[in-house]
Amino acid sequence: MLQQDTIISLATNAGESALGIIRISGALCKTLSRDIFDTPCPTPRQTTLKTYRSVDGKIIDQVIFVYYDLGKSFTGEETIEITFHGNDIIAEKILGDLICRKCRFAEPGEYTKRAFLNGKIDLTQAESVAEIIAAKSEKELELAQHQLRGGLSKTLCNLQSDLINLQCRFEASIDFPEDEIKENNIAEIIDIIAPIIFKFKELIEFSKINSVISKGFSIALIGPPNVGKSSIFNNLVHEKRAIVNEQPGTTRDYITKELSVGGFRVELIDTAGIRNTDDILESEGVQSSINLIDSANIILLVLDCSLPYPTDFYEKIKNTIKKQIVIIIENKHDLNSVIERNNYPPHHSVLKTSSKNSNCSDTIHTELKSVLANYFKVEESPSILVNKRQSILLGVSLTHIEEVKSLVELSSNEEIILQELQLCLDSLNLIIGSKDNEDMLDELFKNFCIGK
Ligand code: GDP
Repeated sequence: MLQQDTIISLATNAGESALGIIRISGALCKTLSRDIFDTPCPTPRQTTLKTYRSVDGKIIDQVIFVYYDLGKSFTGEETIEITFHGNDIIAEKILGDLICRKCRFAEPGEYTKRAFLNGKIDLTQAESVAEIIAAKSEKELELAQHQLRGGLSKTLCNLQSDLINLQCRFEASIDFPEDEIKENNIAEIIDIIAPIIFKFKELIEFSKINSVISKGFSIALIGPPNVGKSSIFNNLVHEKRAIVNEQPGTTRDYITKELSVGGFRVELIDTAGIRNTDDILESEGVQSSINLIDSANIILLVLDCSLPYPTDFYEKIKNTIKKQIVIIIENKHDLNSVIERNNYPPHHSVLKTSSKNSNCSDTIHTELKSVLANYFKVEESPSILVNKRQSILLGVSLTHIEEVKSLVELSSNEEIILQELQLCLDSLNLIIGSKDNEDMLDELFKNFCIGK
């Protein structure tokens, strides 16, 4: 499906830079090549140094010009890329000239939309283009790039063919009643459906992982007052952000800092020390620490090893520790250690540190890296990115395939089973993309940036 208009936009950021790129896509490309660069038959994918002349014959800049043939470009249309000296005045002059030559400015995401409409990529790959641009951590970027190479599409296509095979089987039993589902092949069919259900659930689970990866992991430093939380926070962020004080109960609010740990985005939070107190301000701080425990993914529970274990402290927090990973940090190991481990809450690991020692942040960093790598067994699972839209549609498919399973178990009529199977497939097809749903496409691509 070829679009009528030839679209243009700046593919790089505006402002002073070494180079800027303007991308042109559409049927006018050969005409533009002839009229602007005196090259009626450009060699595809070859960079050529050219003079850009405007309609009225004025030289605008020395540029590098590349032409991509029909079907061989990102959009699938004829495309030209013009690399010019990164100056806004030059960019405006070239864009203005191209408008005079009957091009129009591209809408947000229009290049990617055309790539999808021309069958160069499916919808999950189109979405990954926006996700690559928006990625804020290495892990997010890695997942989005894998998606562009067809990560999710391959899995969905396999599911699609499994469902179509099932459909054929039920259709055959309508056409040839002797093939009707009998009790002895119910188990066989369930064996086919069970891994499909498992795959849907796994993909939906991935979307939860992706949401944590893109929002970032929240890591809270908690513990009684004066155990060294702020000192450890400062060590980890390599700057004096938190106030360190020998007076207990001085941290009354929390402070945060964004870090990258093992390629993951992490928000480190230093909280107020938790203890029983009559001071109104301090008890507000204590309550906010307890709330932060609730929303954290990982808890760094800091204790002072030179003091006995404060059992009353754990009483205050035990109801808020649920699914979070707890790493106990026995701090102040430069002093005599008297702490007994018997009463420790359920934990993942125990680290011995002294925030006076330069190894302190390395020890914690290394542990965090390994915990994050295993957090959702991301390393073991195929790196697939599943976004909100896809997850909702996968949920719809899952409901229908679970219904198919129940109907098979009840030896229901094949036609009813086929209807459910079709609904499951319809929802799956919407993830990969239907070109007919204009409203959905407009909604999806309007969130892209211009030039993509
Ligand atoms: P927080 O209240 O838990 O945030 O603790 P701070 O980081 O403010 O530290 C409280 C006091 O303990 C300060 O006087 C720090 O210098 C001291 N401190 C922190 N970490 C250590 C450590 O590893 N060893 C020793 N000996 N003192 C420490």
